[in-house]
Amino acid sequence: MTSVLWLRRDLRLHDHPALMAATEDGSVLPLVVVDPALDRAGGPRRDAYLGAVRALREATDGALVVRRGRPEQVVPAVAAEVGARRVHVSAEATPYGRRRDEQVRAALESADVAMVARGCPYAVGPGTLTTGSGTPYKVFTPFSRAWRDHGWPAPAPVPTDLHWHADVDSDPLPDVEPMHPVGEDAARAAWADFLDGPLETYGEDRDRPDLDGTSRMSMHLKHGTIHPRTLLHDLARHPAAQGDSAQRYVNELCWREFYADVLWQRPDSAWGDLRRELSSMPYADPATDEDAAGLLDAWRAGRTGYPMVDAGMRQLAREGWMHNRLRMVTASFLVKDLHIWWPHGARHFLDLLVDGDLASNNHGWQWAAGTGTDAAPYFRVFNPVEQGKRWDPQGDYVRRYVPELAHVAGKAVHEPWKVLDGYAHGYPEPVVDHAEERREALRRYEETRRS
Ligand code: FAD
Repeated sequence: MTSVLWLRRDLRLHDHPALMAATEDGSVLPLVVVDPALDRAGGPRRDAYLGAVRALREATDGALVVRRGRPEQVVPAVAAEVGARRVHVSAEATPYGRRRDEQVRAALESADVAMVARGCPYAVGPGTLTTGSGTPYKVFTPFSRAWRDHGWPAPAPVPTDLHWHADVDSDPLPDVEPMHPVGEDAARAAWADFLDGPLETYGEDRDRPDLDGTSRMSMHLKHGTIHPRTLLHDLARHPAAQGDSAQRYVNELCWREFYADVLWQRPDSAWGDLRRELSSMPYADPATDEDAAGLLDAWRAGRTGYPMVDAGMRQLAREGWMHNRLRMVTASFLVKDLHIWWPHGARHFLDLLVDGDLASNNHGWQWAAGTGTDAAPYFRVFNPVEQGKRWDPQGDYVRRYVPELAHVAGKAVHEPWKVLDGYAHGYPEPVVDHAEERREALRRYEETRRS
């Protein structure tokens, strides 16, 4: 019998529970539906996704079928074409993915075809962990303890008895040029390089954007070209498994799982403040306020006059990726220095990031805005100059992305206003005064808290 394996955020062959389950049925027809929702994804992420689909098509000797259209129509039609009784998937956790899957499940059931979910993009499925009293976790640290205690199965190998169902027509795959190497081989190679090199100093270097100290696995995790179980398994067997660096890395993976869990429990947190008591905070609205629109444009373009902020925004535009430290600094700046509500920034990030992910991005934004789960209270405001001096101590990161400041040596690059020819090459003056706007952010916070 042939089963359909409908692939979404699981574009790989290794460690793939849904593929294992499909293989048990007989031959497998791998299917990707190019859903109208994908057109809403930002260009860089869409190209990375389609590039990974192309790589998987090669890995399946061309058997992978691509169809354009609405999943609730396409998936039952393809199942009928090959006489499949089962459609296998990795479970989805986002609000859109859950809604879509329910529609597809209903459409399949009415044709007497079962949709079988096995595995998901996380080591521990969102919604699995609850506190002793059965409620969802609201803060990270207790979640992370429960997550580590829960554990996860060892990664499964590629099934040895794979038979692809190979004679089904495919729509053409759009020709794309991803910004970075994509696909399962690229993911595994990047991971092996990280284990052999930067992992050793990850604990110390992960906050330094001037060093290439992080793994850049986010895009691969996003598209499922590698599974976090594989990363956790390799880390646990690494000679430095108990060291600070490996443990920090596990902790970062846990943040990804925590945010997915929060989104599962609170789908409204995708675009609304988790801390509802802060949702009356007054913000400037770029849709109606010309000044705010100008400030938002300056922020997007990397022309705020704060070198660290601008370098981050330009890295995002150029590479479709931004270092985590800069994601925090630029997000804090938009919300607390420019007083613009975080969804405006979150939208821009999702449009440009190759790893753009609703749970990690929008909760990362809420963390920086102080309206989210834990850790960063609203009154903690990042100082973009001090952040620069601390995490980019020689100024190399800023000079890499802001050529107008290439002539300023050392960490003076973080304060061009103090350098005699700091503005000689067209770099803008600060659009706001940080100290003043910090006070204003705190004033608004106090006012909101009191009301
Ligand atoms: P590494 O340091 O090598 O970390 C390893 C992995 O751990 C990452 O690939 C990621 O899967 C996970 N991770 C690390 N830090 C976090 C974190 N703070 N939250 C959740 N997971 C984390 N991550 C995304 O994958 N997609 C996003 O759209 C996204 N948007 C963000 C927006 C803001 C405002 C903030 C503050 C953070 C955001 N992050 C996002 C989290 C983090 O910045 C990226 O995961 C990280 O920079 C990716 O680079 P890396 O793979 O080299 O990270």
